[in-house]
Amino acid sequence: MKKESNRLYGGIEAGGTKFVCVVGSSPDNITAQTQFPTTNPKETLSKAAAFFKKEMKKTPLEAIGIASFGPLDLNLKSKSYGCITTTPKADWADTNLVNTFRDVLGFPVFLDTDVNGAALGEQKWGAAQGLDTFIYLTVGTGIGGGGMANGKLMHGLTHPEMGHILVPHDIKKDPFKGSCPFHKDCLEGLASGMAMEKRWGKLPKDLPADHKAWELESDYLARGGDEPDIGAFPTKGNHRWWHYEKAGIAERSPQKSESSAQ
Ligand SMILES: [Zn+2]
Repeated sequence: MKKESNRLYGGIEAGGTKFVCVVGSSPDNITAQTQFPTTNPKETLSKAAAFFKKEMKKTPLEAIGIASFGPLDLNLKSKSYGCITTTPKADWADTNLVNTFRDVLGFPVFLDTDVNGAALGEQKWGAAQGLDTFIYLTVGTGIGGGGMANGKLMHGLTHPEMGHILVPHDIKKDPFKGSCPFHKDCLEGLASGMAMEKRWGKLPKDLPADHKAWELESDYLARGGDEPDIGAFPTKGNHRWWHYEKAGIAERSPQKSESSAQ
């Protein structure tokens, strides 16, 4: 039996902007890597498959793990397991990532969300080493999260949409209505890169370090992490919040008083 360090695996970070493909056994042992822009599924997946086919001529791979943008169907009993589902990204809806690579390469293919893939990496090699229950949050164009509970990556009726929690929004201090197409002023609608760009008319990277945007941003992110119910999918109550219906669809909870944030 090969030592774990001698086994080589394929890895794909399937992002909405670019695909990164690697072969290796750990972050310290990457034997090959390539990346290319995400275009249409046929072109993008063909490039990824060609990379792995070439690498497999040098050395066999044990399996491939894919961490992808979504939403994804991760229900092993579902007919569409392995598919990207209802993404707004043109052409990618109903693309089956698992079947595509399994058919072309002929070995096990595993799929999870990009944020769960990152959470797993943090637990194995990064900031969450030694922990079996934690969440991983990423703040970029949107805000997303993955995580682990009792040693298992979080899965359920739907992906935990951690960016779409509601945070206190002082409309006098911040009259920006929010950029989320579903909820307007959820955490993502107020604090994502997209929200910053829409509020200030500039990309976050072009805002100077002393711009008031940063204080507001850190305030929202701190409040997002401070909400007592974060990740717990709360039920109806006095919180301005959502509850998750059985179908996994988020709805805003009834308000005791009409929000000033409308
Ligand atoms: Zn939202």
